[in-house]
Amino acid sequence: MEKTIGRMSLYRRLLLDIEKRGASHVYSHELARVAGIGAAQVRRDLMTMGFSGSPSKGYHVADLIGHIGTAIDPPEQQRVALVGVGNLGRAILAYFHGRRPKLAIVAAFDDDSAKVDKVVHGCRCHPLRAMSEIVPALDITVGIITVPAESAQDIADRLVNLDIKGILNFAPAALRVPPGVFVDTMDITTALEKVAYFARKGR
Ligand code: NAD
Repeated sequence: MEKTIGRMSLYRRLLLDIEKRGASHVYSHELARVAGIGAAQVRRDLMTMGFSGSPSKGYHVADLIGHIGTAIDPPEQQRVALVGVGNLGRAILAYFHGRRPKLAIVAAFDDDSAKVDKVVHGCRCHPLRAMSEIVPALDITVGIITVPAESAQDIADRLVNLDIKGILNFAPAALRVPPGVFVDTMDITTALEKVAYFARKGR
């Protein structure tokens, strides 16, 4: 399930690019090629969602984008908080600003007074101590952690105590959370080391 949702999100991102280039239809093998996934897997995923293409024209791009949205987007806007407005936090705020109307980063938090009360790429940065007030007030259910590793568990605990149910963690730290809270850790260093290892092997 987790992998299927990830692939749906990837398909939509690629379909939005395809739509921007002016194409109205796409074949499963074309989508598979840009996604780096087998065409049979793409067809299976789309069939599971009850979406079928025409053998002569392929899939209707705009309809498919809408269909994926219905399958994976929340019915109403889901709100996200980001903690740690440093280099990575700012880059995420810039990248995500206005990108998905149904999934919005509506508040950021930092413990550095120089960053507090500033609007960063459309998102206000609040002091960390305001988190217990702002997270429930804005009905935030997802947290992004971009603080140094040594602070990540403390931030995760605070978020969980505020009833956050999903955390995207960028800090290189294995977070402990209670059952019912979904955590995904994006470890760029490990990913880069893995790629570098296979790049050496391939030479
Ligand atoms: P950074 O030092 O630029 O930013 C960290 C921010 O967190 C700062 O604004 C700091 O004031 C804030 N902060 C620290 N402790 C806090 C706390 N307890 N509560 C609230 N705010 C706090 O660091 P960065 O480069 O943005 O990296 C952030 C995290 O992401 C690190 O764990 C790092 O290992 C990880 N990471 C960074 C990159 C990258 O490319 N920069 C890539 C992958 C992962």
